[in-house]
Amino acid sequence: MALQRIEAVVLRTIPYSETSLIAVLFSRQIGRLSTIAKGARRPGKAAASALQPTHDISCIVYVGTGGGLKTISQIELVADRPGITRSATLFGLAGRALELALSQTPLEEASPNVYHLLNELLTTLEKASQQSGQQLLLAYELKLQGILGYGLRVNSCARCGRAAGKRSIALSPSAGGILCETCRGGVGDVLSLEREELSVLRAMLTDPIRVWLRNDIPSMVLTRLGFTARRIWELHSPLDRSSSSAAFLAEVGSALYSPESSPREAFGH
Ligand SMILES: [Zn+2]
Repeated sequence: MALQRIEAVVLRTIPYSETSLIAVLFSRQIGRLSTIAKGARRPGKAAASALQPTHDISCIVYVGTGGGLKTISQIELVADRPGITRSATLFGLAGRALELALSQTPLEEASPNVYHLLNELLTTLEKASQQSGQQLLLAYELKLQGILGYGLRVNSCARCGRAAGKRSIALSPSAGGILCETCRGGVGDVLSLEREELSVLRAMLTDPIRVWLRNDIPSMVLTRLGFTARRIWELHSPLDRSSSSAAFLAEVGSALYSPESSPREAFGH
């Protein structure tokens, strides 16, 4: 059995037995992993306050050969994120980001890019307004899809590679990006994007997350691009349709998770 120090974001915790805590982490070194902190909930232990969702921690993990829960110890807090608990919306946005890292990433597969993306999102969310927080989450979702291999092709037709049309552009999550006039025929899930929407989408895929703290985009654009991101999650993971964190965001009035219409309606289903 080998010992390894890891840095990780806490995705979820569950009390276990009288004194222990199960924690699902996303680490820089091992990716997503399920761990147990034995005795963490005994009085006087600092581990329980470090092991909270959204926190960045450092700990020692006992790396065995098999799967299952891995024991962690010497848990140290690297960053707590008090700014996120300022509002229900920010808290909900962070919750959605953690849920996606929990449900969409493979178990125990190193992906430093996901770890950095998640940390960047949580750090910037602390400084965000309700509006910019939603923009940050959308950029996170689109970039996460890119890392996981579901990234949208937005510079030329996803089917034939030709340049996109001049005025309105057809975007299809099932085709994996934008479609030219010829290729859009017969494709079921098409959303017509304005030029402005396409340039926001391109910038979200390429620019660092933090630029969305300042660059405000119209809430209609946010909602429509949000449909695109949700449609992609649904295509790759049908269970995402019943996401509890998405339902919470709709309840607190998020434009990104508008309860008015669903992604399926937007794409003509
Ligand atoms: Zn084409």
